[in-house]
Amino acid sequence: MQARLSERAQLEDELKTAILSGVLTLHYQAQFDRQGRLVGAEALARWPHPQRGWVSPIDFIPLAEESGLIIALGHSVLIQACTLLAIWQSNPATAELTLAVNVSARQFQHADFVDDVLAILRNTGARPHRLKLELTESLLLENVEATIDKMTILRGHGVDFALDDFGTGFSSLTYLKRLPLNQLKIDQSFARDVLTDPSDATLVRTIITLGETFGLGVIAEGVETRAQSDFLTEAGCPILQGYLYGKPMAIEQFKATYLTPQQPDLDTP
Ligand code: C2E
Ligand code: MG
Ligand code: MG
Repeated sequence: MQARLSERAQLEDELKTAILSGVLTLHYQAQFDRQGRLVGAEALARWPHPQRGWVSPIDFIPLAEESGLIIALGHSVLIQACTLLAIWQSNPATAELTLAVNVSARQFQHADFVDDVLAILRNTGARPHRLKLELTESLLLENVEATIDKMTILRGHGVDFALDDFGTGFSSLTYLKRLPLNQLKIDQSFARDVLTDPSDATLVRTIITLGETFGLGVIAEGVETRAQSDFLTEAGCPILQGYLYGKPMAIEQFKATYLTPQQPDLDTP
């Protein structure tokens, strides 16, 4: 017990140092429309640890949330993402791309969250309507009114919102109607089992219809095979993301893979 506590304390210390020293970085996973055009990317935090190698966000995001480091982490992630957006928008080949950033419930609920996002947008010069904040349904477990208020302010400045891991949590249609969302992100567990589990196939079709009914965009994540992508495309899912199209990668590799003039799908100058 004591050993576990001190290991945790050490990891927390190291995470803090990684955030403050800028070691904590972002990888980017491409998102495509049904015609195969690159429409944007999702930014995913990555922590290269000197002894442990790459620590997964599945491990360090909960630690950051419990320790309060998520505020500094989220701030650093937003600065990195908005700096990239500002670079993208200065080039006609990338100016239309959007960047999705994950925001944890604790980060979103912090009193300074809205001001922080707006200040980062101002300071980096990134256009708000190219930034998409991914929230999860866990946010709806408490203080829905405050959540709606904050989202409404940011939407007023042009920032978009997606509901991540949709279908896995607490989904009330009433909230879905009231939240100022732009996009539903179908959880990757549904894409994974869409061909083997008829109820997942039905769920995917239902979410796509739900999106259409509420005037929301829909994206499927975790698409790994052509057969899954064919199913999703035929079901009407407009945007797709997953290993089939590419893993999350460092920005240099992202540029080399998707943004070089050889790419036939891109209007490069
Ligand atoms: P998420 O936002 O739902 O991200 C999707 C996860 O699925 C990512 O894992 C991604 O690498 C992985 N993935 C993408 N395509 C596929 C695929 O085809 N198959 C499979 N099996 N997996 C795929 P990752 O990068 O390990 O991130 C895990 C979670 O950590 C994210 O889930 C998100 O909730 C959280 N996270 C990551 N970065 C941040 C961040 O900057 N801030 C916050 N608050 N949370 C973050
Ligand atoms: Mg996400
Ligand atoms: Mg997700």
